[in-house]
Amino acid sequence: MKIQINIKKCGGCGEVKHRTEFSKNKRMKDGLQVECKVCNKKRNKKFREKNPEYMKEWSNKNPNYNTSWAKDTEESIVYVLKNVVTGEIYYGSSKNNRSYRRSYHFSLLRRNKHCNEQIQQSYNLFGEEAFDFQVIHQCKNPETARQIESWYIQKNIDKNWCLNQRISNVPPLNPANTQESA
Ligand SMILES: [Zn+2]
Repeated sequence: MKIQINIKKCGGCGEVKHRTEFSKNKRMKDGLQVECKVCNKKRNKKFREKNPEYMKEWSNKNPNYNTSWAKDTEESIVYVLKNVVTGEIYYGSSKNNRSYRRSYHFSLLRRNKHCNEQIQQSYNLFGEEAFDFQVIHQCKNPETARQIESWYIQKNIDKNWCLNQRISNVPPLNPANTQESA
């Protein structure tokens, strides 16, 4: 029987983390990078700061990289973070692109620093694998995204599966009543 080891000690911070916390690297024996994603990100950031010329040259050589990333940021989003085990849902909106927003939440949750105690508690109990990030609406206007988010929260905050704790002061907008969302 093949035993799959799901945890690994990071060569950077020394923390023992789940496999999913490491990026894949085919050249390594276990198929994973030596350092965890958090350490990797720190290292990459340091490298960029120390080598501004390299970055300039790199973006000149890869002109499409920047534009494809920019496209991703054009639209504002309304999203849910869903605990697929319990069915709990947290609503949010953002004018940033989805991968950025997703990692923003998970980076706080991993460090036990999320300002919403309910989602933090749910994360601590069930772990990252239990959570799914889904975009439910896309809009050109960030204000529309905030209004739709507000509508969902007002409608559902009393439900026991809703993880949001506060109603925002943004006027709610039913997504069915706008052309803006898709
Ligand atoms: Zn690490």
